[in-house]
Amino acid sequence: MSTYPRTYYSATLGDAPLRDPVRGRHQADVAVVGAGLAGLTAALELARAGQSVIVVEAERVGWGASGRNGGFVGPGYATGHDQIARMAGEENAKTLHRLSIEGVRIVEENLREIPIPEASPVSGRLKVLRHPGASDLARSRDRLARDFDYPVEVVPTERVREMLRSTKYFEALYDPGAFHFHPLHYAHGLARGVEAAGGRIFESSRVVEASLNGPEKRLRTRDGEIRARDVVLAAGGYADRLVPRLRRSFLPIATYVLLTEPARERIAEAVRTPFAISDERRAGDYYRLVDGGERLLWGGRITTRTSEPRRLAEMLRRTMVSTYPQIEGLRVEIAWSGLMAYARHLMPLVGRLQPGVWHALGFGGHGLNTTAIAGRVVAEAIMGRSDRIRLYEPFGLAWNGGPFGVAAAQLTYWSYQAADLWRERRAATR
Ligand SMILES: Cc1cc2nc3c(=O)[nH]c(=O)nc-3n(C[C@H](O)[C@H](O)[C@H](O)COP(=O)(O)OP(=O)(O)OC[C@H]3O[C@@H](n4cnc5c(N)ncnc54)[C@H](O)[C@@H]3O)c2cc1C
Repeated sequence: MSTYPRTYYSATLGDAPLRDPVRGRHQADVAVVGAGLAGLTAALELARAGQSVIVVEAERVGWGASGRNGGFVGPGYATGHDQIARMAGEENAKTLHRLSIEGVRIVEENLREIPIPEASPVSGRLKVLRHPGASDLARSRDRLARDFDYPVEVVPTERVREMLRSTKYFEALYDPGAFHFHPLHYAHGLARGVEAAGGRIFESSRVVEASLNGPEKRLRTRDGEIRARDVVLAAGGYADRLVPRLRRSFLPIATYVLLTEPARERIAEAVRTPFAISDERRAGDYYRLVDGGERLLWGGRITTRTSEPRRLAEMLRRTMVSTYPQIEGLRVEIAWSGLMAYARHLMPLVGRLQPGVWHALGFGGHGLNTTAIAGRVVAEAIMGRSDRIRLYEPFGLAWNGGPFGVAAAQLTYWSYQAADLWRERRAATR
């Protein structure tokens, strides 16, 4: 029987039904591999539209990145507009950004309509600068208003430092349309929604073999088999070599999160806002108050090393204290890691591998909105209802570079870190 790793989310999940593994033969219109948010959203959209759907999960619902992440839901992708426009063209880049906003709305609709009140969404996100940059933020604000009718506000340094008691911070962009929530509760809510719409979900059932040619696809697990007209491959950063071409197209990248002990007053010496906070560095810190301000949940760092470091909690704690020295001594109760899938171009890998075989993975650190829109466009494509999936065609299944790719990713990260540090030092010496 599969169990969850120990995280804040699994510790606060409460009773979640353990679903049966696949035994014997089952048949459906569509079989989905992976019960992360990508697979579950695709399944929900398909089941609601009347397709018979089976989701097969190696471990448990939301066991992967989807149930361990920071819980920040906001528009955008793991890479910026300019890079997307270079690959897809300016107009398509704008349409893709609109899809990413639709992704946020899909999550909101699901929270309301399934409903999933236990995911406890809290509105508002602050993206803070670690160097002065009000005019850059004003430009972003104006562009979002002009191109997407998406309102955000520039928050001056003084106000930022009232909310976040750190001299490292300068101005921030406040996004009232973004929110944070309990992602594992959300994953379980989606699973409930899939089943309410007639879909079936099997847990503890790794797909070990896939026969994907011909009109009927077959997925084999240890004790059974699923046959389906269409297959959706949504195994995220945990995808194994089931479909080697997919596995070669992304790198699993680890990132870390910690949860502090309960200490409302001490934490309030540092963080005085219920908003989700992240800094603008490409591999920066992200954190938020949880349990109504009793604890701080803090995430950061990325690495190509997929095994969990021995001193993970201490490593991350030091990052937290370097921003907020006043909470030195605050104890870390739980620390955990999770794997994200990153393609070379940093955009999601969403498309058709061959007739009847679809893939949706590679959401990087921006998966909570992008898994939602990917699930929807894959479902639309399977049912022949739209070809919006084609907007992701410019971001194909390029080879990840094997061991050279791993080294390159780590070097790129270090160079980002160096560039970010250089900018901060310059701000500090001004
Ligand atoms: C620590 C951390 C913090 C993050 N913070 C944020 C954040 O705040 N905001 C944000 O937008 N994004 C964040 N992300 C990214 C986001 O969580 C992911 O992009 C997203 O959840 C990926 O969803 P997925 O469905 O593609 O993959 P996953 O959630 O990883 O799900 C894949 C599933 O497939 C299953 N599987 C794999 N192989 C098989 C097989 N052969 N057979 C059956 N099942 C299989 C796995 O067990 C797993 O459950 C974070 C990620 C991490 C790790």
